[in-house]
Amino acid sequence: MTVNKFIRKLLKFKGLLVTDFQFKFRDKELNLWVKHHKNGCLCPQCKRRGRIVRTMDNYRVWRDLPICGWSVLFWYHPREIFCPTHGRIQEDFPWADAYARVTYRFEYVMLVYCQLMTQKAAAKILHIPKSTLSDQLHRSIKRIRYGHKVRGLKTIGIDEISYCKGHKYATIVYDLDRSCVVWVGQGKGRETIDLFFNEFLSDYQKGKIKWATCDMSRAYIGAIEDHCPNATLVLDRFHIVKDLNKAVDEVRKEQWRLASVDERKALKGLRWLLYRHSSNRSKKDTRTLNSLRKGNRRIHRAWVLKDEFEQFWDYKAPWAAERFLKRWITTALKSRLEPFGEFVKILRKHMRRILTFIGSRLTNAIAEGLNRIIRIVKNRASGFRSLPAFTDIIFLTVGDLDIPAQIPLKFRTL
Ligand SMILES: [Zn+2]
Repeated sequence: MTVNKFIRKLLKFKGLLVTDFQFKFRDKELNLWVKHHKNGCLCPQCKRRGRIVRTMDNYRVWRDLPICGWSVLFWYHPREIFCPTHGRIQEDFPWADAYARVTYRFEYVMLVYCQLMTQKAAAKILHIPKSTLSDQLHRSIKRIRYGHKVRGLKTIGIDEISYCKGHKYATIVYDLDRSCVVWVGQGKGRETIDLFFNEFLSDYQKGKIKWATCDMSRAYIGAIEDHCPNATLVLDRFHIVKDLNKAVDEVRKEQWRLASVDERKALKGLRWLLYRHSSNRSKKDTRTLNSLRKGNRRIHRAWVLKDEFEQFWDYKAPWAAERFLKRWITTALKSRLEPFGEFVKILRKHMRRILTFIGSRLTNAIAEGLNRIIRIVKNRASGFRSLPAFTDIIFLTVGDLDIPAQIPLKFRTL
């Protein structure tokens, strides 16, 4: 085996010949000059062989995967060919996309690494500056997602997420049947979500949406009801429970403010106990909470109300659930706890949209799960300054298109 053949085998260069190489010690770079082993080049569009018209004067350079600490760059004279169908055109590069500056296998490894670790860590392993990596990542994801359309949407979830310090928000649309993100947009207002419905879905697709879930945001509810004529809106269970917990916590805070030093001792450590679902409570917790009946009537009443509300989610018949809800509201109002007044207002306003839960059992749990993954990724990167960078990572980790799987199979080296 000649050295040239060995290098070709090692680097898996098919049909390429290494004509020269050079080690740049200062930059830890290995430069390889390559040329075609055989004559004849393919058209990038129809993959048919074309006649070579001319060879470009300048070399083009591609970055390949690093080997043993050396960054590998390879240099090649691209050629222009004449295709009977497509005319004069630059030849097809089997190892990289037409305009890419890196090879397919570099792209694949980069995409997989960025799913697993921070861009900073990936950049270090791949021997490139972080700015170059995020730029390259953006180009790759943009190219792979180009022309990708939202398809087969039946159950959607809409939620918001903050992505930057200073309260910048993005709206995320989830496909709850396939647990993935289909769209990310800047802002959390009506105009943001309108953009999704107007530009990314056809009227036919909007009509196909059967179920939708979101929080109590007026913008999202309005948009779903206006754009999706056949969709049943289910208000998200977790957001309702969150509001209820908030009401309980406000009662607790109010009592804490009014309590004397001695009384405060009894109220310590209640916050998380009050939040806890009855199924995760130990006997000791229940005893502590029951002792409040004597210690602090108002907190006790708030807790009992919250505990009773848990039953609502177990109802199977909508009429029974409605009856329960109405009774619960009466009891809550009788308790004269002001924070519950606010919660009852929400319940009354959205009664119809909350009751749809009983028939559908639909929650945003999948969306919340995805949202958690997104938050982990966000925190791992210590936040994102711009939305495009954040969107890239969302699509890469929980998007509707498996991005690394779009790289041709033979280049998936990991
Ligand atoms: Zn062609």
